[in-house]
Amino acid sequence: MSDTGPSPRSTTPRTVLISGASIAGPALAHWLHRYGFAVTVVERAPALRTGGYKVDIRGAAIEAAERMGILEDIQRASTDMRTGAYVNDDGKRIATLPADIFGARAGRDDEIMRGDLARILHERTRADVEYLFGDSITSITPVTDGTAGVDVTFEHAAPRRFGLVVGADGLHSTVRRLAFGPEEQFVRHLGAYISAFSMPNELGLDREELYHALPGRLICAYSSAGDPAAKGLLVFRSPRLRYDHRDPRQQLALLDAAFEGVGVEAAPARGWGQVPRMLEAAREAGDFYFDGMQLIEMDRWSHGRVVLLGDAAHCPSPASGQGTGMALVGAYVLAGELAAAGRAPEEAFGRYETEMRGYVAVNHALARKFAREMTADTRRQIRFRHLMMRLLPCMPWKNLIAKKIAEDVQRAAQAITLKDYPVPEVPNRAAGPAPDAARPTYAA
Ligand SMILES: Cc1cc2nc3c(=O)[nH]c(=O)nc-3n(C[C@H](O)[C@H](O)[C@H](O)COP(=O)(O)OP(=O)(O)OC[C@H]3O[C@@H](n4cnc5c(N)ncnc54)[C@H](O)[C@@H]3O)c2cc1C
Repeated sequence: MSDTGPSPRSTTPRTVLISGASIAGPALAHWLHRYGFAVTVVERAPALRTGGYKVDIRGAAIEAAERMGILEDIQRASTDMRTGAYVNDDGKRIATLPADIFGARAGRDDEIMRGDLARILHERTRADVEYLFGDSITSITPVTDGTAGVDVTFEHAAPRRFGLVVGADGLHSTVRRLAFGPEEQFVRHLGAYISAFSMPNELGLDREELYHALPGRLICAYSSAGDPAAKGLLVFRSPRLRYDHRDPRQQLALLDAAFEGVGVEAAPARGWGQVPRMLEAAREAGDFYFDGMQLIEMDRWSHGRVVLLGDAAHCPSPASGQGTGMALVGAYVLAGELAAAGRAPEEAFGRYETEMRGYVAVNHALARKFAREMTADTRRQIRFRHLMMRLLPCMPWKNLIAKKIAEDVQRAAQAITLKDYPVPEVPNRAAGPAPDAARPTYAA
């Protein structure tokens, strides 16, 4: 049996199947290839998914990106946001602040479109890693013939054997369901839903984000550097809803119901006039995203030779603004521990958890706090927030206040110290790429 090759019946821990080609999956693929593993990534979507909101890369995630060698790529693709403002029903800016205060960024922290980061990671790995788009794992069975490994079946590809399987397939992870049981037992709903989509830049925004708050709802439109389109973001409070998370039509109907009447001329409490246009844009967008603000809380992230990574293991919800950074950090730690543990991946899984647990706990606490604060309860609260924002730039101690506001986020972003794992200077090419590596095209 080969120790490095991607042979369909290899049982060595050095053949790894990763489910999910968003952030966590390709980041892990990058590191595992550097350490000499043969990596296959299976992604359910037919091509790389480029949608989503802008995401923050802060603290330890900046360090992880730098160690990966993608920090400059991230900086080049930065959203370069200038300002954030709250607007009234007529779209008039009533309070404006620098974007970095809005995003609680400090030092080298940056912000990038989720899709741009997915592209950077995919481009970094596509030559060395086998990508299977348009497929999904259907079963994972531990090998029982005395050799270690797992037998995997797919919706389309032929069955194969791998040394390890990694679930980097997000909040609704298939790997988690197959190896640990139904999602229900791990999901903690934070009481809100979020949607993000591209829309025409009819407002003529230039690296500016506009927010409009209503009781229980938050509406945002922005444009980022280099993107001729604008993005819309709609958040609404709600107890947990039952719907098919893979059916956009059901999700659009929920969005319509949550924002019904908002922005309509005749309605008594009108709201921003842009909202009806945004709902229309959501229906037409090719990158419509909708999901719950939910945490994934698990006692263990590994089971035998199966391990979870990123949102699949510990989704911190969009409320934390930390999910993407945590995925980069987790990939670095998991790969480093796997390389260090040699032929004992179970030991590596234990150490990976030990390293990550505290960081995850702090970020989950942050998510709970922000999910409560993201939308206001009453119009009075909203008026008070606007007043505070208007006063802030005039206050003599404004920098101190801004620092204080960012403190929780910064503490969470830095709640892990990255270990120094010895990385080979030159990637060990003996293990990959797999011979039948697919070359996907990007989705529009
Ligand atoms: C299209 C998209 C848009 C997003 N938009 C936002 C946003 O606006 N705001 C925000 O805060 N977060 C957003 N997220 C989530 C954000 O990317 C994650 O919180 C974070 O980056 C952690 O990444 P991850 O790789 O662990 O999980 P995710 O980014 O969720 O990636 C999981 C990947 O696994 C794939 N997948 C799912 N099931 C299977 C399966 N059975 N087999 C194979 N592949 C599978 C998915 O298609 C996806 O590519 C979005 C995610 C996606 C996929």
